[in-house]
Amino acid sequence: MNTSPVPAGSFAEWLTQIQQALRGQGGTDVPCGECVGCCVSSYYIPLRAGDAQVAAQVPRALLHVTGPADAPQQWMGYGADGHCPMLRDRHCTVYAQRPQTCRDYDCRIFAAAGLPAGDETRRVINERVAAWQFSYDSPTAQNAHQAVTAAAAFIAAHQHDIDGIRFPGGPTGIAVLALKVYGVFLDEALRDADATTIAWAIIAASKAFEAGG
Ligand code: SF4
Repeated sequence: MNTSPVPAGSFAEWLTQIQQALRGQGGTDVPCGECVGCCVSSYYIPLRAGDAQVAAQVPRALLHVTGPADAPQQWMGYGADGHCPMLRDRHCTVYAQRPQTCRDYDCRIFAAAGLPAGDETRRVINERVAAWQFSYDSPTAQNAHQAVTAAAAFIAAHQHDIDGIRFPGGPTGIAVLALKVYGVFLDEALRDADATTIAWAIIAASKAFEAGG
């Protein structure tokens, strides 16, 4: 595995950007370089109304539809090798019109959360996740990163064991939730709280995030 460090940028600046992106208020600019990890990792990509130009180019055999007839959801599948059908010679052939999901994807969420992106099908992404190295402008930024990682570890460890609470199960869901609620793990008042109290604080923080708090 190639894990030579790759600069991920300022953690504090990235955290602000990714939180805005999670609120649908912008995006992040991932310094991917030569990496095409997420294009070769067996992802189904949802195609929304604005992705019609791409949908028209997807081979019919790799264009899937789910959901009810009056509200169908199109998906772009992947080849037998796990590669996106729009990838040629390690270049995206629809880059200017690429689906919104591809624009939004930022594998640094896994580096922030201290999680791999997934199993062996995500091996190339996992290599980049292991290589990312954030920089820190202040102890506050370092504490925030530690809190995101702690939040992800808590969510992963308590997915189903607290009555009335079901946390997301997959790496993306865990990382995204951790980025929304990491403040719980900076709250001195909760430092010695039991797992149930922390779990409900996470639910409250998640609702506050969705409400724009
Ligand atoms: S895996 Fe990460 S670094 Fe690689 S192309 Fe995807 S977003 Fe960029």
